[in-house]
Amino acid sequence: MPKLNENFLKLEKNYLFINIAKKINAYIAANPDKKDSIIRMGIGDVTLPIAPVVVEAVKKGADEMGVKETFKGYEDSGAGYDFLKDAIADYYHSFGADVKASEIRISDGAKSDCGNIVDIFGDDNTVLITDPAYPVYVDSNLMCGRRIVYADCTKENGFCAVPDYSIDADLIYLCSPNNPTGAAFTSSQLKAWVDYAIEKDAVIIYDAAYEAFITEPDIPRSIFEIEGSRRCAIEICSLSKTAGFTGMRCGYTVIPDELTVKASDGTEVSISQIWGRRQGSKFNGVSYPVQCGAAAVFTPEGQEQIKVNLEYYKENARIIGSVLDELGIFYTGGKNSPYIWLECPDGMKSWEFFDLLLNEANVVGTPGAGFGKNGEGFFRLTSFGDRDKTIEAMERLKKLLKK
Ligand SMILES: *Cc1c(COP(=O)(O)O)cnc(C)c1O
Repeated sequence: MPKLNENFLKLEKNYLFINIAKKINAYIAANPDKKDSIIRMGIGDVTLPIAPVVVEAVKKGADEMGVKETFKGYEDSGAGYDFLKDAIADYYHSFGADVKASEIRISDGAKSDCGNIVDIFGDDNTVLITDPAYPVYVDSNLMCGRRIVYADCTKENGFCAVPDYSIDADLIYLCSPNNPTGAAFTSSQLKAWVDYAIEKDAVIIYDAAYEAFITEPDIPRSIFEIEGSRRCAIEICSLSKTAGFTGMRCGYTVIPDELTVKASDGTEVSISQIWGRRQGSKFNGVSYPVQCGAAAVFTPEGQEQIKVNLEYYKENARIIGSVLDELGIFYTGGKNSPYIWLECPDGMKSWEFFDLLLNEANVVGTPGAGFGKNGEGFFRLTSFGDRDKTIEAMERLKKLLKK
């Protein structure tokens, strides 16, 4: 009989979204006339369609697959076609990040790479994860039984954790702009983490999935804008939120050539080589038409077109933020992020505020407590919804909370 990896039994059940669905269903059962009034602002998925230039590129890629001369089977390396890696490298250079095309590997998304990167590190590492956090970091490390220590993100530090030199971390997960808090590191805040990682001989796994939402000049889009980062960081990024690729599936991971780890026999081992070996064994690359579509995102036309959708979400975020400002509610995010992370009014707990908002305003958000202990008392709203509904939801919030 096979033995189970019993670490899976220690994972938290995904109570968060199950409980939200249960509460909505119970409310509708009791108030059937309110069914169509409910506005969902908890969604973490994009809603606007793929840009036309991307759709055309995917179609063209599919057409090529149907012709013998241009048909493509397995990719030689499985690391992505050069045309896409070159486009991404140029994109990095456009904002001053030092990344070579050969250091980029194309993937089917950031979640896979965030979850799979654990494979190349030993299970006796100490992993540092911010709290609150995107659940993938915690779960993928718990699955192999690793020790996790948490870095607190609180109202006091603006939900940007600061390094604690009394902790000896080996692996550090950072996400900026952050899901769920929307907070983003300034260059000097991120530099503090790079300094810490170098001092501790640690590796930072940097999730930049929301870089396209950055509007403020002092917020780095990539950790590779920070001096010293090439010696200590891996960056994982995705087109999911940037270009609406949640259903298309394409991301990329950057590992600098000089990033090494000392093996127990003292030899310096290239992380990029080990990751390539891992991917080569367990992953066969991203489909050619999707890579064609991804490359179109980085053309001037593609950048113009995705900007239209990004601006739409950003305007929603601005609308949410301005109502919270008017109500005097503390929040992070919204400026460089599609997420708004607000402090529940009157000292309410996350689920108390969820109930109030659902029952009295028919608005649904995500209780912060579901993302870690520091999320208690906070609440996440997203700007991925419809403009009119966002405005309507904020009107209802104002009516509910304005005394
Ligand atoms: C949405 C999201 C991603 C992207 O995941 P994909 O697998 O590329 O769709 C990565 N990290 C965070 C924090 C996210 O919220």
